[in-house]
Amino acid sequence: MDYSNKKNVEDINVQGKKVLLRCDFNVPFDAEGNITDTKRIDESMKTINYLINKNAKIILCSHLGRPKGKPNPALSLKPVAEYLSKVLGKEVKMANDVIGESAQNLSENLNLGEVCLLENLRFHSEEEGNNKEFAKKLAKLADIYINDAFGTCHRAHASTVGVTEYLPSVCGFLIKKEISAMGNALTNPRRPFISILGGAKVSDKIGIITNLINKVDTLIIGGGMAYTFMNALGYSVGTSICESDKLDLAKDIMAKAKEKGIKFLIPVDNKVGKEYSPDTEAKIVDADKIPDGWMGLDIGTKTANMFSEAIKGAGTVVWNGPMGVSEWERFADGTMSIAKAIAESGAVSIIGGGDSAAAVQKLGFADKMTHISTGGGASLKFLEDAPLPGLVALDDK
Ligand code: AMP
Repeated sequence: MDYSNKKNVEDINVQGKKVLLRCDFNVPFDAEGNITDTKRIDESMKTINYLINKNAKIILCSHLGRPKGKPNPALSLKPVAEYLSKVLGKEVKMANDVIGESAQNLSENLNLGEVCLLENLRFHSEEEGNNKEFAKKLAKLADIYINDAFGTCHRAHASTVGVTEYLPSVCGFLIKKEISAMGNALTNPRRPFISILGGAKVSDKIGIITNLINKVDTLIIGGGMAYTFMNALGYSVGTSICESDKLDLAKDIMAKAKEKGIKFLIPVDNKVGKEYSPDTEAKIVDADKIPDGWMGLDIGTKTANMFSEAIKGAGTVVWNGPMGVSEWERFADGTMSIAKAIAESGAVSIIGGGDSAAAVQKLGFADKMTHISTGGGASLKFLEDAPLPGLVALDDK
């Protein structure tokens, strides 16, 4: 899918217009209701500030958590309005509803450059149901729609797709960056182009493997999904996560890589544990020597060195999925080495959202990467070349 022709906020006149800006303010909270990570809000500031400077009237909207279609005070966006007011240095007025009287009054009475925030979109079941009437009422609040919530673009909801039926619809700066960084890597990569795929299951990554195998020079497989490949090669994998119904698929993928002359790397050693537990007894063994009753929970040192060596010469790297159970310190080394190798490679580096993005951030390598996607599921779909309804729905130039 090519989204490079989609209109963005700089392609339209927003001066004095009421703009409905769909953001991803789905931030985490602690038990006292304080926001524990403001990154998602901060990522939206570029578009918000641009609209303020252009004297638009800004109506922000977002979902938060899973209220299952009913108002739930614990999932109110009020704390987000308070944070935004602080950062912007002016009040962001909070509506008590999404399409009701409060939202209508606030949006109707905005002055130039003023900002308000609607309540959690998912307080209405019609949001996730992409209900036409709901989308129409949402659209009625504004003159222009801007989507900057990349993380929800793989879902056809009222606020990502339905609303675009009724308003001129463009993307904000955050989505523009996602489209250009990932789009360029896929269509015009600096070579050699290396992809590193990890995570739990082959079945979740079939789409991305199938797409990237036609584009890359080297394909590296780590994480839980590597054990299905090792098993397909005839190795015993103990109690490692392994999809026995995907062995033929794994063989087909390896055959295709060979046929295309692609370098295909899987682990040559693994860190195995006795149980699926953060402090289980652990040791490193060669890939063909996983003992019965043990499970692979990370790549081993030889593998980390082999993968890092391959990454060293890369022109472009696309990484999605950790090399092991990186949430547990004992099994995080493999993922760390990959993050470090990418950071030091000088390659154009694209990090899919989710666990790999979290690892890069935690290790302090974030500023060394070309692009860290803000969407887990959405970036996976993008790299699969599957259509993202929220992007497809935007106006073309
Ligand atoms: P994904 O969302 O598919 O990228 O998968 C991420 C998850 O894969 C993380 O929660 C990891 O704990 C898990 N994972 C990675 N390697 C393994 C492994 N060897 N065994 C079990 N789970 C794994």
